[in-house]
Amino acid sequence: EKWVYDFAEGSKDMRDLLGGKGANVAEMTRVLGADRVPAGFTITTEACVAYMNAGQHEPEDMADQVAEALERLQEHTGKLLGDDADPLLVSVRSGARESMPGMLDTVLNLGLNDTSVEGLAKATENERFAWDSYRRFVQMFGNVSRGIDGEAFEKEISNIKSDAGVEEDTDLDVAALKTLTDRFKALYEKHTGEKFPQDPKEQLRLAIRAVFDSWTGDRAEAYRRINHIPDDWGTAVNVQQMVFGNKGDTSGSGVAFSRDEVTGAPEPSGDFLPNAQGEDVVSGARTPRDIREMKEWLPDAHAQLMDILRTLEKHYGDMQDTEFTVEEGQLYMLQTRNAKRPAQAAVRFARDAVDEELLDREQALMTIDAEMLTALLVQTFDPNADYEVISKGVPAAPGGAKGEVVFTAAEAVEAAAENPPRAVVLVRPDTNANDVAGFHAAKGILTSLGGKASHAALVARGMGVPCVTAASGLKINLEERVIRVGDHVIKAGDFIAINGTTGEITLDDIPLVDPTEDPAFDEILEAFETVLGWADDIRRLGIRANADTPHDADKARELGAEGIGLCRTEHMFMAEDRQPKMRTMIMADTRDSRRDALAELLPLQQEDFEGLFEAMKGLPVTIRLLDPPLHEFLPDLPDLAAQVERARIELTDDLETLEKLLVTTERISEENPMLGTRGCRLGILYPEIYEMQVHAIFRAAKAMDEPPHPEIMIPLVDYEQELEIMRELVVRIGEEEGLHEVEDYTVGTMIELPRACFVADRIAKFADFFSFGTNDLTQTALGFSRDDVESKFVPAYMERKIIDRSPFETIDKPGVGWLVRLAAWVGRESRPDLKLGICGEHGGDPDSIEFFHMAGLDYVSCSPFRVPIARVAAAQAAI
Ligand code: ADP
Ligand code: MG
Ligand code: MG
Repeated sequence: EKWVYDFAEGSKDMRDLLGGKGANVAEMTRVLGADRVPAGFTITTEACVAYMNAGQHEPEDMADQVAEALERLQEHTGKLLGDDADPLLVSVRSGARESMPGMLDTVLNLGLNDTSVEGLAKATENERFAWDSYRRFVQMFGNVSRGIDGEAFEKEISNIKSDAGVEEDTDLDVAALKTLTDRFKALYEKHTGEKFPQDPKEQLRLAIRAVFDSWTGDRAEAYRRINHIPDDWGTAVNVQQMVFGNKGDTSGSGVAFSRDEVTGAPEPSGDFLPNAQGEDVVSGARTPRDIREMKEWLPDAHAQLMDILRTLEKHYGDMQDTEFTVEEGQLYMLQTRNAKRPAQAAVRFARDAVDEELLDREQALMTIDAEMLTALLVQTFDPNADYEVISKGVPAAPGGAKGEVVFTAAEAVEAAAENPPRAVVLVRPDTNANDVAGFHAAKGILTSLGGKASHAALVARGMGVPCVTAASGLKINLEERVIRVGDHVIKAGDFIAINGTTGEITLDDIPLVDPTEDPAFDEILEAFETVLGWADDIRRLGIRANADTPHDADKARELGAEGIGLCRTEHMFMAEDRQPKMRTMIMADTRDSRRDALAELLPLQQEDFEGLFEAMKGLPVTIRLLDPPLHEFLPDLPDLAAQVERARIELTDDLETLEKLLVTTERISEENPMLGTRGCRLGILYPEIYEMQVHAIFRAAKAMDEPPHPEIMIPLVDYEQELEIMRELVVRIGEEEGLHEVEDYTVGTMIELPRACFVADRIAKFADFFSFGTNDLTQTALGFSRDDVESKFVPAYMERKIIDRSPFETIDKPGVGWLVRLAAWVGRESRPDLKLGICGEHGGDPDSIEFFHMAGLDYVSCSPFRVPIARVAAAQAAI
């Protein structure tokens, strides 16, 4: 089997085998030519998988193939690994199919030892550079392949700097670097009990193993779980000739984006550091300079870089995120990939790319991560509010966030787990992969070091969490747990607010508002509207919203909903002024007295529906009749029992009423109400409730100038007879109100029980439409109680790899999804014009939307806030 590919053999279509980095380095070699990309080879992801499956043993042949590839590389470069005259040095770089920023480790300058370092010094006539490279190698090798704490090395660096009386790493002289290397080697020996390996081939073998092993490390596993990356992909290993950014003033390293990676504006952006290796830029150890300043520093390299960015963007048809190194004026490209970008940059790029004829509409839409669009709807600082800016950093991920200061990821996780969760902002000098859990838990991230491309910035953008980096005015002391900014001393637990759109930091409790209210967003919103317009042209699925109030309905229409897919009427009974009326209705002894109580509720319900119809301006509105069990409207049973006990002792006036309430509550309360007397079962037992609701709906409809189209939905149907009875009820009331089925309204059902899916052909005989209630369908099909599983066993199930995400987040395609397909199929078989929709959380989840598109549904309905996401996801499903 072939485990090793030279860069010259690969291409961008081979990312499954070569990993993203390997495939793209190979592609760049083709597009830009071999002079621009240091040569090397890739050990495949399959080799990593074989290694893992064999219990950390390299597959047979792999070592030979690596040795042969190394021969070829040595021939190509005319240098030998570990040579004591002019040695070849290589980097050993991990690279999985999907980029996992900072998750897997890279070793640079491999091939140096006590003799080749002298060779390098002589060949380059640069002793300082040679020793700086060697000490970096010992440090990275020790840290990456032997797990020696990075802090231990940093401490040695601090010590030697203070001994030498210098501030910057770059000020250390040769003697100091030699001493530092010795101390690093001693550290290595102390930690591992072995001498630092001097044989370059052994170094290479160990480094390759270390990259393989890093795939199963805790950090990588945590990242994969959050990002739904399968464990069995493995990572590739890239071995590449080193080029040196740390050779002096005409050398340097940087990252460059083909467009502004935060705003999406068409000018390239990025950071660079003179006299540095790539790691220095990303780690945030030194504060980098803006890429525009590179023009003054090295005009030729700058011009070449700008040209390459354009070429790559055109070639890939997407915004690029690159890494480069300049060695004595000569520019080398080390990496390119499609840039991760916040929503604002994503929509801006999509629109501009079509304007520039770089992409067509379909292609442009596919560059957008629909889920990320929430960031355009996330809150920002109220633009009209006054606040004191205590410091400013780099705006690294948009949106406003506020909360209590925490200094560790663990504290953020704790705060988020509290009930109710505490809002916190995670504040750190810089972050690393170990902090990722905290990113999820925190409202925002603030760092004093780093830049636009630092770890914190990348991860926060990926997650849509507001983030400010490089706030160098902040002196963060982790030991004392305080931040000092000017005269302010901010302690753990104190309030802070950050603006990831501007980089501002304040201690004022500033109101957060929807971005639509911020004029700075006009340009972005315009692009967003354009993109949404294309999505509407392309998608086949209709998009509706779940809305119970005129306010939600307005919001939904504003965001592009084409109707209401689910109006839950129980909310209308929960309002405080209605609860007593509802209670009287439930407590009524006779049908007549219940009717009287309902008569009082009728006008209120009618008003509710009028508000909703008014807001929806003639668009369809699906109204679900009362669903929850009745005792939800009554007081808590144990509380009530205690109250009655007290009243009995004190003989208070309300004793009789309370006793009566207790009897009723006991009579109708159930052990397991979720599976009890709810939905149409209520309608069968207490038809007068549904009668009242239907009257209210029809009267509201008649009161409108613009006739609405109500769709009356009967919940929780198991048997076709249930729907038959309920449908007769609706039609009878319709006749009383002078309205006609189909013409003026339709009657359908919510499909949310497995039995209903199996007998959907029978049920369809009485239904104009089905709306899949996938929340309940997931609960009943899996036997998972939605309110309990998420905090109880779902995390453990994900850890044990039984599932990769909650079935309430993305529809369980083989199980629940199959029920949906079955019901859609047999339902339409018995009634070809049956309209099919889905309501429930899955209606706003891009993965699930793709599934519903394939299953042939007519529309999805989601929360108003997610309507734009659903529009884009539905278009993507159709492309
Ligand atoms: P990551 O996935 O964490 O970005 P990389 O493999 O890209 O890891 O390497 C980390 C850094 O090392 C990068 O900034 C890159 O510029 C630098 N680097 C990697 N290979 C080489 C090389 N052959 N020559 C010079 N610098 C390199
Ligand atoms: Mg990289
Ligand atoms: Mg339901």
